[in-house]
Amino acid sequence: MGGKPWPGTSTRTGDVFDPATGTVADTVVFASADDVDAAVRVASDAARSWRDASLAKRSAVLFAFREIMNARRDELAAVVTAQHGKVLSDAAGEVQRGLEVVEYACGIPTLVRAGFSENVSTGVDSYAIRQPLGVVAVISPFNFPAMVPLWFVPIAIAAGNAVVLKPSEKDPGAAVLLAEWFAEAGLPEGVLNVVHGDKEAVDALLDHPAVKAVSFVGSTPVARYVYQRGTAAGKRVQALGGAKNHMVVLPDADLDLAADAAVNAGFGSAGERCMAISVVVAVEPIADELVAKIAFRMSGIRTGDGRRGCDMGPLVTGAHRDRVASYVAAGVEAGATAVVDGRDPAVDGEPGGFWLGPTLFDHVTPDMSIYRDEIFGPVLSVVRTGSYDEALTLVNDSPYGNGTAIFTNDGGAARRFQHEVEVGMVGVNVPIPVPMAYYSFGGWKASLFGDTHAHGLEGVHFFTRGKVVTSRWLDPSHGGLNLGFPTQS
Ligand code: NAD
Repeated sequence: MGGKPWPGTSTRTGDVFDPATGTVADTVVFASADDVDAAVRVASDAARSWRDASLAKRSAVLFAFREIMNARRDELAAVVTAQHGKVLSDAAGEVQRGLEVVEYACGIPTLVRAGFSENVSTGVDSYAIRQPLGVVAVISPFNFPAMVPLWFVPIAIAAGNAVVLKPSEKDPGAAVLLAEWFAEAGLPEGVLNVVHGDKEAVDALLDHPAVKAVSFVGSTPVARYVYQRGTAAGKRVQALGGAKNHMVVLPDADLDLAADAAVNAGFGSAGERCMAISVVVAVEPIADELVAKIAFRMSGIRTGDGRRGCDMGPLVTGAHRDRVASYVAAGVEAGATAVVDGRDPAVDGEPGGFWLGPTLFDHVTPDMSIYRDEIFGPVLSVVRTGSYDEALTLVNDSPYGNGTAIFTNDGGAARRFQHEVEVGMVGVNVPIPVPMAYYSFGGWKASLFGDTHAHGLEGVHFFTRGKVVTSRWLDPSHGGLNLGFPTQS
């Protein structure tokens, strides 16, 4: 459907809020299974001709899209802030990281270039080619409405597939803008289609026989479900799930650096990041000093409307704000020390916004719900341990394995941690170790179902399938019949 979201016939709708005012800013029509079927059919038709477009043509569209997106990045960031609530500088960062994947996809001619072996047998050559899959589905979460679609869509398209994108129903505006820009960049109609909706649309994509692969990002229960249902239907599925990221601080660390990092990674985007730090593991004897430094920095955080130069915006919906606040209550109830309680924040914003200030808990223990559950809000827990080994056990016992970080000035300790920790993305004195576009993004354990991470070479492989050709162009001489198994000669 080019840049326009799929029109559809469904009458089910959802509200899109401006989280900083609490008002309904838009409504979105949820696709029915029939709408999804119609979109997939259009994509199937488009995929047949798009796979035959030359690599030069496909990369030219990507380059043109890159120029449009780069010129209008502020517009995209503003849409993200208006519907998600994150502050403008943070939205601009998300747009930048998405743009980097577009730039990576511009190199598709070299990314799909494969090997050629001359004379694997006398007069016989062998070569590998990578071909597109056909129609692929991308299903994205609310927290990165621009970046997460951009982890997948540019590479899928550059590789010659057609895409049906189902963004989060909470903030679908960024996906619509991206699709419009792809149309402007010269992408043929039907190669990128946006359908809105919820479980009904997702299920229809998972069951549709013409959808060959699914890239999903969201919470762990839904990721597990998408992986199981999609693979049962014979599809290739990568399903990235939730997280509970630990930051280990060793006694020799630079505590000012560690405190800055804990605050930035704990409260940036109001904690609504899958790579947010939600647990600081302080290896004694530094916990008292570290907690004091974190609390001091938190007093300088300005919570408010992301368009007013504040540091931290609102949560995405009122229901989510209430859920996060209930975890703060549960932490107090369970006996953790609320060093800073964010439930009654001073805000620079409209009173109806979905506000919650930053909360810091100390003396958190692994049996507490604030430790166990992914809260996905501005709540940071400090767990005190006596040794590196105890800290490592804590991280490795977590069912999640998305991101982690260690803060230390001991290179040997950092090297040991990176070797021993069971987590997909590791930072050394870097709190949010999000890989660049040319590496791959993805966690371990309950943070990713499937074996392929997003973007980088793994992304290119996910959206293509390999074929190996063995060819012989006969010399004028002919070897005659031979019914034996082919071997080299
Ligand atoms: P979510 O799981 O509620 O929704 C994700 C997508 O699935 C949305 O498009 C939604 O419409 C759809 N969906 C929701 N419920 C469904 C159901 N029952 N059946 C089928 N589809 C369903 O996630 P969210 O709240 O939008 O996003 C936040 C979550 O995403 C957090 O858990 C966060 O950690 C995770 N996340 C993970 C990564 C990562 O890379 N691992 C990145 C970003 C976000």
